[in-house]
Amino acid sequence: MCVPGCQEAVRHALSRRGFFKGAAAASFAATAVAPDLALAKPTVRQFTTTVDLTHVMSAAFPTFFGVPGIEMEKKFDLKKDGFNLYWWRIVEHAGTHLDAPIHFSESGATAEKIPADTLVVPLAVVDVTAKAAQNPDYLLRREDLAAWEKKHRRLPDNCCVAMHSGWAKHVGDAAKFTGKDSAGVFHFPGVDPAAAEWLMKERKVLGLAVDTLSLDNGPSKDFKVHYAWLPSGRWGLENVANLDKVPPSGATLVVGLAKVKDATGGPARLIALV
Ligand SMILES: [Zn+2]
Repeated sequence: MCVPGCQEAVRHALSRRGFFKGAAAASFAATAVAPDLALAKPTVRQFTTTVDLTHVMSAAFPTFFGVPGIEMEKKFDLKKDGFNLYWWRIVEHAGTHLDAPIHFSESGATAEKIPADTLVVPLAVVDVTAKAAQNPDYLLRREDLAAWEKKHRRLPDNCCVAMHSGWAKHVGDAAKFTGKDSAGVFHFPGVDPAAAEWLMKERKVLGLAVDTLSLDNGPSKDFKVHYAWLPSGRWGLENVANLDKVPPSGATLVVGLAKVKDATGGPARLIALV
């Protein structure tokens, strides 16, 4: 199968062909079409299966704020009203969700302004499960990224780098998932600010994803990764599921984000094309 980006590029080229069919414009057709087809070529990617990287959202899902991330009130019932419909009240940053640049900046992009073509990207999964099992506050480090590149070559341009810490399997146990201790401090893995900075400066990465509650690890008080990454125009994903079911390299991530005006992020359906 051909991913949407590829089909769109071909369709775009074809529609331009149609546009230039007019007799007077015929002579422009060759020059107008050629660059589009050339551009379309490197974006062709194949996939045979899909992997859902999204947790089921419910009021029971552990949240950063310790309150339910969603409340659902049944407003209409099939038997009584002829159809079923709930009203939702949701926390933008709960469950599997996206952090938009505005979340930690004055004037960064809000959810509806994130271009669609930056939400379909190559996915690089960095496995730190063994280290995180030893240390719940583990930070994905520069050396983890170097080890990934040694095996899989340089991180692809415009990719999303995902930390796979193994935390997704704890999602049914809020105490373990949040790691909250008696002093109220969280304990779960995150990304080392120096590693995030390296990804921003030395590689062309669009997104950063974690299978925990936050890009910054549990005990973080300064949210250094959020404050560096999001204001730069990049997005983040938190509470990602099933990273153990996708290959470390070669998958394409599709981020299905609700297009809500002025939103600082929001629940997202994440699908990996493998
Ligand atoms: Zn968030």
